[in-house]
Amino acid sequence: MNTSQLRERRNRLAEEFAELQWDLGGMAYEMAIRDHFRLDVIVRAAARVQEADAELAEVERLLRLEDAAAAGTCPNCGSLHSRGAVFCWQCGEGLMEVRPAAVSVPPSEG
Ligand SMILES: [Zn+2]
Repeated sequence: MNTSQLRERRNRLAEEFAELQWDLGGMAYEMAIRDHFRLDVIVRAAARVQEADAELAEVERLLRLEDAAAAGTCPNCGSLHSRGAVFCWQCGEGLMEVRPAAVSVPPSEG
């Protein structure tokens, strides 16, 4: 699964998770106003929310790993670092490309 597929999956799961949560809330509300709780029904609905939540967390973890892999590794110690990192979190090596400023040396007087 590539990154864009993962992102699509993440978005779908996030929607699904929100819908399931909404359903669970609505269901609990209906039961509450009728003063008739079906705990088994609530527990089943909650289990579906939990499944979607766990899958979402896993996809987000994979996306974070892909981000880290895409960003690069420390030239000194090889640790993965995230995009935009300035120093290696592991060894403190500077990660930004160093571009020496143009220094004009004045001609010596003499
Ligand atoms: Zn390092």
